[in-house]
Amino acid sequence: MVKYLLVAIVAALAIGLLRSRWRRPDREPRQAPPPEDMVGCAHCGIHFPHGEGVAAGGHRFCSEAHRDQFRSSR
Ligand SMILES: [Zn+2]
Repeated sequence: MVKYLLVAIVAALAIGLLRSRWRRPDREPRQAPPPEDMVGCAHCGIHFPHGEGVAAGGHRFCSEAHRDQFRSSR
């Protein structure tokens, strides 16, 4: 009787160990993308990520329309 109990305990421990190994990949923290610098539109002043928008004449604009309006106003 004690043998069966021992086998049951060992089996339960083995199953618990395997389950904890299977769960490990889910627990790894996901790395967030690095924050992107924000720049202001030279025409309207709205802020947007540096990678977006339009660059012209050393200025950055939120859209091509604002770039064109900025150019025509000068
Ligand atoms: Zn703008």
